[in-house]
Amino acid sequence: MQWNGWQSAGLVLVLCTPGCGDDEGSGGGAASADGTSDSGNAATDGATGSTSDDPVADSSGGSSGQSEGGFVESILSGMWADDVVITVTDDAMEFSSDGVPNHDVLEAYGLMDGTTTPVVTSATTFTIPVEPEYSAETTATGLGTIGFAISGAVYFNPYEGDGASVAIDNNFDVGGIPFLDGCNGHPLPNGGTYHYHGVPYCITDSVDVLGEHSSLIGVLLDGFPVYGPSGADGSAPADLDECSGHEGVTPEFPDGIYHYHLTEISPYSVTCYHGVVDDAGGGMMPPGPPGGDDEPTRR
Ligand SMILES: [Zn+2]
Ligand SMILES: [Zn+2]
Repeated sequence: MQWNGWQSAGLVLVLCTPGCGDDEGSGGGAASADGTSDSGNAATDGATGSTSDDPVADSSGGSSGQSEGGFVESILSGMWADDVVITVTDDAMEFSSDGVPNHDVLEAYGLMDGTTTPVVTSATTFTIPVEPEYSAETTATGLGTIGFAISGAVYFNPYEGDGASVAIDNNFDVGGIPFLDGCNGHPLPNGGTYHYHGVPYCITDSVDVLGEHSSLIGVLLDGFPVYGPSGADGSAPADLDECSGHEGVTPEFPDGIYHYHLTEISPYSVTCYHGVVDDAGGGMMPPGPPGGDDEPTRR
């Protein structure tokens, strides 16, 4: 496909535990939604030597409209950075990295206390279900990590540590050193957990194709994929719901799936999940802004 300029796909480590034969899809063709054919696929998985039980017929349907194997394969087809390790088990996909994105970052970032920090490594692990489940009820995204990006960095919601200041609308600089960079990203005050608060242009400029639906740029905590700002015809989708999501076809999911879009206008990032999440708190919480309870400086 047309991934001009982007680096090769990331390191993918697939752990096939007994019974995961229904993840097997290398036999060619789309994985069947009919669970009975899965045992046939499992036979091609003989290298494991496992005489596993019949695959549990829990992969039938699913409100995502994708079979389990199809979902995992589609996510894996994204242009994951070289140093992203993806581990697949029966229940989950786990993404690990050193927390530093594979695109250029600034030498330093402005902080609210008037100092600056470089980006430092911070081991990051993020886990999603292999069968994301759409929910009519929404769950607010919390502060801290809400998603994992193909760059090896993570996504935050639009807000800074006070839960109210929209990072992109309140960008400032410290002696010319900006708070947010041109990728809508920056690290936490300790230099770790580089994260995006909106469209990560350093990624989308590399993976999106003009005039087409944006390409996969990561996954959110509920398991549903996240995309840049372009809808089916390359323009911003007009039918996004309250969580900046909609159901539709994407380059990686030709049969359609519920997915999120980061947007060039408010709210920029995703403010709620429309899928089932175990713990909306997600991953790492950022420390409070330097200076304790003081209002963040708006410039
Ligand atoms: Zn931030
Ligand atoms: Zn879309």
